Amino acid sequence: MEGPPEIEKREFGVGEYGRKIARRHLSFEDERKLNEFLRTEAPFYISYSVGYFKFPSATPMENKVLLGSDLVFEFDADEVGLLSERDVWMCDSCGEAGFGYRLKCPKCGSSVRIEIFPDPEREEKLKEMVDALVKDFLLGDFGFGREDVSVNFSGNRGYHIHVRSEAVYELDKSARIELVEYVTGQAIEPQYMFGGVVPCGKDTPFLCVEGPSPSSAGWPGRMARSVLNALERGDRDLLLRAGLKRKDVDALLANRERYTGLIGRGRWPAPKMFPLEVWANIARLTAPLSGHAIDTQTSADIHRLIRLPDTIHGTTGLVARRVKDLSSFNPYRDAVALPSKEVTVRVRIAPEFELGKRTFGPFRDEILQLPLYVAYYLIGRGVAEWSLDSTE
Ligand SMILES: [Zn+2]
Repeated sequence: MEGPPEIEKREFGVGEYGRKIARRHLSFEDERKLNEFLRTEAPFYISYSVGYFKFPSATPMENKVLLGSDLVFEFDADEVGLLSERDVWMCDSCGEAGFGYRLKCPKCGSSVRIEIFPDPEREEKLKEMVDALVKDFLLGDFGFGREDVSVNFSGNRGYHIHVRSEAVYELDKSARIELVEYVTGQAIEPQYMFGGVVPCGKDTPFLCVEGPSPSSAGWPGRMARSVLNALERGDRDLLLRAGLKRKDVDALLANRERYTGLIGRGRWPAPKMFPLEVWANIARLTAPLSGHAIDTQTSADIHRLIRLPDTIHGTTGLVARRVKDLSSFNPYRDAVALPSKEVTVRVRIAPEFELGKRTFGPFRDEILQLPLYVAYYLIGRGVAEWSLDSTE
């Protein structure tokens, strides 16, 4: 298999069942050595560092001498707030379980764990977010080349987007945090997007502020497009949430042609009822990646280890795949790797879900014959166990 670029400068870590990193500070001088290791040790999990080190196997951390680091954004379906009725909550205290999302067990009040299951609708939304990050921000605003950016399915709940470029190599933690804040729209500041007061044009009884037009670059253009879109759709709810008063929303929508005409030319109406902050709020509220979409701390962590692509994820049995064409990629079809020979498992609970081009479930307290890849997935999710009634 193919190792990460500059493999000799990476730290590797391997895990065993139930423990993602059991041993770290490993290093390999080349791909051949890595493959040899994989063949002889067959680790349950293998991860490598986003950082490049002079002495990758040295301990403690400081002795490794960090030379630089890839920029890696992480998207996990549950972390980005995409919930699904197909998810399962399980109470490990009393054994109660059910579908959907809950914080506490209704029977005993203990905290529950949430296990996510394949949901095509959520998968599409997650891919849209990844696509927005890649196209709008990495290739668009930041100007990285296609060859600098790669997308991997993590093998579990989401995607990792890697940027490998001289431009990010030496960025420190705080610069990485700023990048995340930029893409999620947390860093939008209206005072930098608008200029001075100008006449709006004839027949307009108030003044305008000079600002971005829909074709402007970066967030200013994104803001103009989202405001125009809100006006054209007559999205009352969004305008109210952005901070406008009800009667001002009415006035705005009643004259929407005039306003969209002005904003389309980069002239922003400036009466008192439309504070500039409102326009920035609309951009924030409609941002392709919300404030929670990307975990800032993990994305800024230059010391972390990340799943090696093309290896099996120990929890799901799915392969952490390099994604060539995101639009046609379906992890629950394309990342299935284990055999489909039938095994016997006792399933506590599972929704209806699709895995490897077949549909399974819903199940509740059943002993079943299932393909190994499905059994493994359910056991990894903690909703099933091997059954002793196995026919073998
Ligand atoms: Zn309980």
